[in-house]
Amino acid sequence: MENNMKLFNTLTKKVETFIPNEDGKVNMYTCGPTVYHFAHIGNLRSYIMEDVLEKTFRYAGYDVKRVMNITDVGHLSSDADSGEDKMLKGAKREHKTVMEIAKFYTDAFFSDCEKLNIKRPDVVEPATNCIKEFIHMIEVLLEKGYAYVAGENVYFDTSKLQDYYVFSSQSEKELMVGVRDDVDEDTNKKNKSDFVLWFTKSKFDNQELKWESPWGVGYPGWHIECSSISMKHLGEYMDVHCGGVDNIFPHHTNEIAQSEAYLGHKWCNYWFHVHHLNDKSGKMSKSKGDFLTVSLLEEKNYHPLVYRMFCLQSHYRKPLEFSYEVMDNMENSYLKLRKAISKLTDAEEIETEKFEEYKGKFLDALKNDLNTSMAITICYEVLKADMKDATKLALFRSFDEVLSLDLTMGDLEEGGAVDQELEAFILQKIEERKAAKKEKNFAKADEIRASLLEMEIVLEDTREGVKWKKI
Ligand code: AMP
Ligand code: ZN
Repeated sequence: MENNMKLFNTLTKKVETFIPNEDGKVNMYTCGPTVYHFAHIGNLRSYIMEDVLEKTFRYAGYDVKRVMNITDVGHLSSDADSGEDKMLKGAKREHKTVMEIAKFYTDAFFSDCEKLNIKRPDVVEPATNCIKEFIHMIEVLLEKGYAYVAGENVYFDTSKLQDYYVFSSQSEKELMVGVRDDVDEDTNKKNKSDFVLWFTKSKFDNQELKWESPWGVGYPGWHIECSSISMKHLGEYMDVHCGGVDNIFPHHTNEIAQSEAYLGHKWCNYWFHVHHLNDKSGKMSKSKGDFLTVSLLEEKNYHPLVYRMFCLQSHYRKPLEFSYEVMDNMENSYLKLRKAISKLTDAEEIETEKFEEYKGKFLDALKNDLNTSMAITICYEVLKADMKDATKLALFRSFDEVLSLDLTMGDLEEGGAVDQELEAFILQKIEERKAAKKEKNFAKADEIRASLLEMEIVLEDTREGVKWKKI
């Protein structure tokens, strides 16, 4: 098939033509969430843009297989091999077991994804399912002389590689700075950049989940899971590996080191990294405690897809600053766009030539290193173009296979398609809530709001009284 998609590749630091290993097929891997807390909307920026990438491949005619792990063990509170396991920290915080925490936040993650129209990858694999595979990979690395046992842990020996810092021309010292802040040096390591493949001894030895291994009872390092899970499902060659920019070092650097040492050949050809969403105070972080989630946006009455549009309006390789002002503007544009599309009628025949012309323009924008804001501009061009409504509608249905903004699902301001009985019920609930508030029974008022939200009805307290809309 025609390979004319251009993508920036972090490995070469250039925009390159994307050519998969097997014609017409894309093997894609995504680093999944660490499920110790809700995903913040920064994490979800990465997953939205990766979703657009996957859907663009499919739209361009590729057959895609996408795999994602769930990090339910091994991700420590520092990216260096020290600190407490993030999962254990989460479990302690909520007085639950690690597996309870993992289940709860995995479900919460996929519920957020659903709200943002992020497709579930073809394969989703929790790390705790694959301990056997991790152990096998570590055994091979030991046999091949790329790993060593010290102080009862197993380490990867980075000095055995010609080029460990594949992604960066920065010096070793520079790279280690952010990672090593206030971290004690692990004296078992032969080289500073070596990393743990398997722990049996760590400063934080109260790990809840441990497994038998040839090196004693312990648990895997974080990096090994992505190498191993991707190979389990995608084989020895991968086309594109995704993640946020913070994953470049050390996580992806270490994934490449151990995977290529294990395989004895090049592993993944294209590395796709999404830049961070920041708030005014800087990088968004789950460990900061109070962070922005999809639920918080909903509580503030934003439709989750307004946030998806916010992300699509900027390029994935640029940092993006979150603000409510921009979200308000975005909400306006989103509502207007849906309203305009809802007025189009489906009665006539589609003009095939025009349909193909605009579909081509749309795909060209995406094939140009995923220029999503240009793809949205093309939506506005279609609205203005001299074309029959039916052609326009067909185009929006088609574009939505990638944009996933529910463009043809009706006018949101009209409250969507709600029948009279339901409307009467909502108005009754609004009255009940008003009465509860008057009696200062705020728990009941909140309960009513939450029960309506479960029915996808959002209440908005305005100066003119309570308004509602269907999301
Ligand atoms: P984690 O749950 O911490 O393992 O992160 C899940 C994904 O979110 C990874 O791909 C990270 O690189 C990405 N990520 C973390 N912080 C941000 C941010 N502020 N903006 C965009 N992506 C992020
Ligand atoms: Zn990963």
